Amino acid sequence: MTALQTYLAALAPGIDIVAGCAGMSEDQLCAAGAPNKTARTLLTLADALFAPTSFSRLQRQAVNAARERAHPLPTLEVIERYAARAKTKRDAWRLRVELCRTAADTDEMEKLARKKLRELNPPTPPRPGVRIRRRKDAPWTLAITGPSSLIADLESSLDEDAPLDSVAALFSPSGAAPATRPTITTNAIITLDELDRIIDGDGEEITIQLTDGARLTGAELVSRTLAERGLITLVHPYEGAVNLYRTERMASEKQRLMAAAENPVCPWPACNYPADKCQVHHLQAWRHGGETNMSNLATCCPYHNGVNDDDPNAPPVRGRLVRRRGRVVWQPPWADTAASPSSPNEPVQPTPPDPPH
Ligand SMILES: [Zn+2]
Repeated sequence: MTALQTYLAALAPGIDIVAGCAGMSEDQLCAAGAPNKTARTLLTLADALFAPTSFSRLQRQAVNAARERAHPLPTLEVIERYAARAKTKRDAWRLRVELCRTAADTDEMEKLARKKLRELNPPTPPRPGVRIRRRKDAPWTLAITGPSSLIADLESSLDEDAPLDSVAALFSPSGAAPATRPTITTNAIITLDELDRIIDGDGEEITIQLTDGARLTGAELVSRTLAERGLITLVHPYEGAVNLYRTERMASEKQRLMAAAENPVCPWPACNYPADKCQVHHLQAWRHGGETNMSNLATCCPYHNGVNDDDPNAPPVRGRLVRRRGRVVWQPPWADTAASPSSPNEPVQPTPPDPPH
C-alpha cells in the first residue's frame, strides 16, 4: 500500500481512532507522533464521545452508530463542530446521535448538520432600527433594518452604479441640499509650546509669554499661526484647552466645542464615540464640588458618562476619567489613586515632561 492508501484506509474507522485517544494528554499524543492540531482535534472528539457524562445512554448510542456507519474521522469532526454549538447538552447529544446514525459523506453531513443545528437554534429576527458601526481607521457602516416595504423603497431609489452618491442624495434631496445639510465648522487646534506661560487667562483673552520672552495675546498668536480657519482652540500641553477663537460669529456652546476639540472622541480606551454626540462630562462631579470650567470638562459618551466612578471616596468599580498632565485619560479602578492628582481642579503647575525612558 502507498502512504496515501494507508492514510485514507486509516481514516475510515474514525470512532476507533478516537477511542484510542481516550484518557491521553495532548503531550502524550504529540509524543506518539500526532501534529499539535491533530492531537487537539482528536482530544476534542475523545472528550465528547468517551469522557464520563450524565447523558451516558445517548453517548453510547452515538458511539455505536458511528461505529456501525464507519464514519471516517473528518465526518466525526463535522458532527462534533455542529453539536458543540447546540444551546443545551441534551440538544447536543440528540444531534450527535441523529447525525451519527445518518449515512452521509463528509460534505452531505456538513449540510445536514447545519440544517439540524438551525432547527435547534433558530436565528433571532433582527430588531428594526438604524445602527452605526464606527471604525478607527476604516470606513463606517450605517445599517438600516425595517419593514421590507421601506427597505425595498429605499433600495429602489439607489443608483446601482453610484450607490453611495445616491444615499447621500436621499438624505439631502436635491434643491434642499444646501439648506438642510448641517454646516461643518472647522475647529483647528494649536498646541502651545510646553514652556510657554499663560500669564492671564481669566478674561475673554489670554496672554502668553513665549520662550523667547515675547508676549502675545492668544488672538495674535492665532493670527500669526493660521490664516482663516473658522474656529481655533488653543490647547496647552499640561493645562488642556485654554481658549477658543473664532473667525466667524458663534453664539454659544463654546465650552462644548473646546472639549470636543481636545477630545474628538470619547476618551475611554477603545471607545470611538464621536464628540459631536458626546455629553460634556465633569471630571470632578458637580455634586462633589466640580466646577464648570475647561480644566474640569471632557467629552464623554453617554454610556461611559454613566459608568464613570464619580464619587472619589467610593470604592472604584469601572475607573474614571481624570486630567493628568493636561490630558484627559481613563484611570483604571486598580490604579494607585494616591499617586495621581485627586482633584482635577487643583492648579496644575506646568512641569517638565518625564525624561525619555
Ligand atoms: Zn465612551
